[in-house]
Amino acid sequence: MYSEVFSIIRKHNEMMRNSIPLIASENLTSEIVRKCYLSDFGHRYAEGKVGERYYAGCRYIDEIESIAIRLTKRLFDAEHANVQPISGVVANLAALFAFTNPNDTIFSISIPCGGHISHDRMSAAGLRGLRVVHYPFDIESMNVDVSATEKLAKNVKPKLFILGSSLILFRQPVKEIAEIAEDLDARVMFDASHVLGLIAGRVYPNPIKEGADVLTASTHKTFFGPQRGVILSKAEFAKAIDKAVFPGVVSNHHLHSLAGYVISLMEMLEFGEAYARQVVKNARVLAESLHELGYRVLGERYGFTETHQIAVDVRPLGGGDAVARKLESAGIILNKNLLPWDSLEQAANPSGIRIGVQEVTRLGMREDEMREIANFIDLTLREKKSAEEIRRRVAEFRRGFQTVKYTFEECSAYTEIC
Ligand SMILES: *Cc1c(COP(=O)(O)O)cnc(C)c1O
Repeated sequence: MYSEVFSIIRKHNEMMRNSIPLIASENLTSEIVRKCYLSDFGHRYAEGKVGERYYAGCRYIDEIESIAIRLTKRLFDAEHANVQPISGVVANLAALFAFTNPNDTIFSISIPCGGHISHDRMSAAGLRGLRVVHYPFDIESMNVDVSATEKLAKNVKPKLFILGSSLILFRQPVKEIAEIAEDLDARVMFDASHVLGLIAGRVYPNPIKEGADVLTASTHKTFFGPQRGVILSKAEFAKAIDKAVFPGVVSNHHLHSLAGYVISLMEMLEFGEAYARQVVKNARVLAESLHELGYRVLGERYGFTETHQIAVDVRPLGGGDAVARKLESAGIILNKNLLPWDSLEQAANPSGIRIGVQEVTRLGMREDEMREIANFIDLTLREKKSAEEIRRRVAEFRRGFQTVKYTFEECSAYTEIC
């Protein structure tokens, strides 16, 4: 019966409420964002652009989408914004259709070095029929090797350079790559899925200002939105992008979540800077604490992180798979992650784990809590206490962090719908 569905949801909420959520691609939405999901917008269609729809009944949807476009452009100081992609991958697919042709060569960061699947042949880049060359990558700085890239690019002559990663610890050299691209008459795309909220909060440089032609992103990782996507660009690319989005890869664009996205833009404009500063502070403190406890945190020479993320090499502890499972049994939720020296075949048991502090920051945690989290991780991985005992202590620790902060009306993190 249908009540079983609600019972599963309740159990899931219960699990999340009692855990420490450290998945770097997730976040919480505020209750005012969530209220939008339940509106009638979720039943409607609005194909086409504002004021040029194919269906009647779009008057108020037009108002919402106009605000979404206006506030997106203001927040990111962008000349053009398309708010219709329903996810980050869909935004990437549209951008690849707008900026490349089949058989073109592109540069992207390999998956073990942090690139996203959609930058590669197995996903969006492959669907567009692109040849993919991976950037030379420096493991110590966890970043693109610019001078080696320049040499390679002169031979390969790519049409598009993709920057932005899923494992992204540091600022990437957008300016330098844009200069290389200019000489080759190529374009630069920055996939800001992970750092969109940090760009909005002014702690991560705005790639559009640094010379990227187009920025794609998910809206729900460090950003406060519901799960969807967005594309920003210079004005000259507006037409090509809009056409690639609709009719290219989107029909209905999920209007209830568009309304929620508008609220998240308002939250970012108001609270984004305070939030983003705290996110980066928290990530540093957690990285330092883990390092002091003897863990192999990547990027030591560069201060471990400039984002919400931390990467840890956990090979001495049995690898990412075993470590993520063990932590889950203690109520600490994060993901195993490939690291630059891994091959794709190792995806089931990679060398590392990835940690993100954006969600715990949204719950109001600060530096002291980061030290406690490092301690919980250490208790678990060194088996100083049973997983059960740690899980109890984690739940106790979470009791003080059950509301969503950095919003207009602080609210419970997990809406009780039943
Ligand atoms: C998460 C992510 C995506 C995919 O976004 P979805 O909204 O899940 O489709 C794309 N690019 C990067 C770099 C990501 O980290």
